[in-house]
Amino acid sequence: MAPEFFFDMDDTLIYNQYMYTKAYAEFIDFMLKKINAKPSAKEHSNEILQIIKHTSPKCQGIEEIIKTHDLDNLLHDMFTIVNNFNIEGGRDNPENPYNRERVPKAFRKAYFDICKKYDSPILETDADEAYEIGKVFHNVNKDVVEGAEDVLEFLKEKKCKTSIFTCGDVWLQQKKIEINGFDKYFDKNRQIIVPIKHNGEIKNYINGCDPNQTFMVGNSIKADIAPAVESGIRAIYFPSATYYSWDDVEMKKDHGSKVLTIIDLREIISNYDLLASLK
Ligand SMILES: [Mg+2]
Repeated sequence: MAPEFFFDMDDTLIYNQYMYTKAYAEFIDFMLKKINAKPSAKEHSNEILQIIKHTSPKCQGIEEIIKTHDLDNLLHDMFTIVNNFNIEGGRDNPENPYNRERVPKAFRKAYFDICKKYDSPILETDADEAYEIGKVFHNVNKDVVEGAEDVLEFLKEKKCKTSIFTCGDVWLQQKKIEINGFDKYFDKNRQIIVPIKHNGEIKNYINGCDPNQTFMVGNSIKADIAPAVESGIRAIYFPSATYYSWDDVEMKKDHGSKVLTIIDLREIISNYDLLASLK
């Protein structure tokens, strides 16, 4: 029997997080035009925004940018306000924390708070515009991670069973699957979209698999790698530049023997014989 693979999607098969970073940059840019900040503060903020806006798909997540850039107080303040609303939106909806309304609503709420804080007039039409900026990442473009298609093509030739195992907003994740052309590699019943990867969720999908020949491929230790190993299967860890404080955990020492860490997805091809021989 050929080995079986479960793939996380966001920032494993497609570049994803940088779209949020860009949306944040767009929003802050919009707010800078609205508030009565000192010209010097605006100028400095604009410089940093230009850097963030031109980040590549492999850029850092928004949290890391906030941590590592020398932001002036104004920008820092805005990021903090919008980020808090974003996190709060997830907490308010624990069964569907990544719903697609979360960011647009966070931008809308942040618009009101930032205007109040900086003593700027509030307009409903501007609040609507802030909401629309948060919807930019709903316009999905093809953005496949380097090497992913080679790997999927290869596994198809080897007749391996492959599944997408992703969490997020069902409508949005479905759209990403279609637009990135993954229907070609994953049968409909092997496109698993869950609103949240509860601990142990993967267990529901690995019944009947040979645990030594089943691999979860993902970029998150907490959401992908640890749950897979704890469920008895193996994992392939593909860390991305994306950073979430939520996921800032070390791999457990005793998980190491069950995990292959790679820096390029195509290492799945070069390691295939080894993976297929594991007992
Ligand atoms: Mg991911």
